[in-house]
Amino acid sequence: MPIFEYRCNKCGNKQEFLEKSGGKNKHVCKKCESSDMQKVFSGFSVGQSNATSQSSDSCPTGTCGLS
Ligand SMILES: [Zn+2]
Repeated sequence: MPIFEYRCNKCGNKQEFLEKSGGKNKHVCKKCESSDMQKVFSGFSVGQSNATSQSSDSCPTGTCGLS
């Protein structure tokens, strides 16, 4: 089950939540009980992994594997 980190927009508290597929994704801050939580992407960048997979999939010269 994937765990996502959320940050409270009200008090800035960071908290991890289990994201259940098909379940309701309403997260409430433990500190201030605000439901104004924003997902934080940490550990990996979506744009970065996208760029690396793109360059490895399409090698224009065909010599990308020879370094
Ligand atoms: Zn909060």
